[in-house]
Amino acid sequence: MEEKEKKDAVKELKKKLFLQRENGYKRIDADEEKAVFDFAEEYKNFIDTAKTEREAASEAVRLLEANGFVEYKKGMKLSAGDKIYRNNRGKAVLMAIIGAESIEEGVKLCAAHIDSPRLDLKQNPLYEDTELALFKTHYYGGIKKYQWTTIPLSLHGVVVKADGETVSVNIGEDESDPVFCVTDLLPHLATEQMSRNAAKVIKGEDLNLLIGSIPFRDDESSESVKLNIMNILFEKYGITEGDFISAELEAVPAFKARDIGFDRSMIGGYGHDDRCCAFPALKAALMCKNPIHTSVTVLTDKEETGSDGNTGLCSAYLKYFIADIAESFGSNGRDVLSASECLSADVNAAFDPTFPEVNERANCAYVNKGVCITKYTGSRGKSGTSDASAEFAGRIRRLMNANNVIWQTGELGKVDAGGGGTVAAYIANLNVDTIDMGVPVLSMHAPYEVISKLDLYMAYKAFAAFIAD
Ligand code: MN
Ligand code: MN
Repeated sequence: MEEKEKKDAVKELKKKLFLQRENGYKRIDADEEKAVFDFAEEYKNFIDTAKTEREAASEAVRLLEANGFVEYKKGMKLSAGDKIYRNNRGKAVLMAIIGAESIEEGVKLCAAHIDSPRLDLKQNPLYEDTELALFKTHYYGGIKKYQWTTIPLSLHGVVVKADGETVSVNIGEDESDPVFCVTDLLPHLATEQMSRNAAKVIKGEDLNLLIGSIPFRDDESSESVKLNIMNILFEKYGITEGDFISAELEAVPAFKARDIGFDRSMIGGYGHDDRCCAFPALKAALMCKNPIHTSVTVLTDKEETGSDGNTGLCSAYLKYFIADIAESFGSNGRDVLSASECLSADVNAAFDPTFPEVNERANCAYVNKGVCITKYTGSRGKSGTSDASAEFAGRIRRLMNANNVIWQTGELGKVDAGGGGTVAAYIANLNVDTIDMGVPVLSMHAPYEVISKLDLYMAYKAFAAFIAD
């Protein structure tokens, strides 16, 4: 054999025997690159409008209704091609497209979460100190607290007044709105603060939201700045201080999603975790026509605090929805769930060259290498993971390849570096074959996270292929 032929043969053999992990841009054509960038525009619009679980749920319902989905009522007669949804308390949404096959063949389930780390107002949040008015907060989800200071924050949520009326709040998103912020110490006087470890540089009780400074006119008594703020809130929303007790107000970053990089290949924004999976999953459901199997997509709340509560996936609301659909066909939910498959659509950590030490390079996700399949999560020896079977991982791998989805695999960091979980375990516990699949994220859980447009689009392709299968 000639030297060149030998080399080519070795190259071919490597291609055949080694795992290929090429950059996704080397594997798509110009048409698909355009689709990648177009999809990112839709996504940015979605995350700018839907910053909280309530806003994401109501935006999802709006899109579902615009695409022919009708609100499901228990006992409703269902047949192939029907598109239904259920709104769980305005914070989680379920949707289904009835398939041609019998429901007993199982459903194709996609599950993503629409809550993200943030600062929640406490039950009695408003106080005045040294003629400044502030809100006490209690952070929601796992955050590096110091990252949430000195950035513009907006306030979203609802207040249920004493008479039962619900008032919606969304302030700080419009260019003409004021915003709020958490202050931090100037470096000149931070000698003691800078000697603390990063978890304590800013403590939970330091995350106080600055909201005002003008005293109420004609008031010489104490707390007149607080009075002035309460008066503004009463005039604008009709609320009194006691109404905060029955409120859910969430401070989130006020900035909008923007392209990152000279090549505009990435998106910076708040709450990619997990709306960069929730939006592709929703979009796949919206675009799905006459599936073979019934497809069920759930956009859930409370993942970031452990999935407990009646809008989180540890509750029975998903199980009940599937049982209700099953009953419409004279089947039972248990049999349907046992035959079902699920993509737990959640993000993974992207390899960051600035912090390479936390990842093991052969087993982590990379920007632009596609949607990431995560067979198991957990920490301290896979604790808390559902660990998908080799058979199910194999099935999903074949499905992705058959549909030209660019995908990779990755674990969340090195063994013993830390870890984390998703809703996968709670769904797998219902006797459903489940695997995690989602977009790699840089700076996960920071107020400004980064994802790749290509990986985002591949998540959409993956979920669409799964529910159509
Ligand atoms: Mn997540
Ligand atoms: Mn998270």
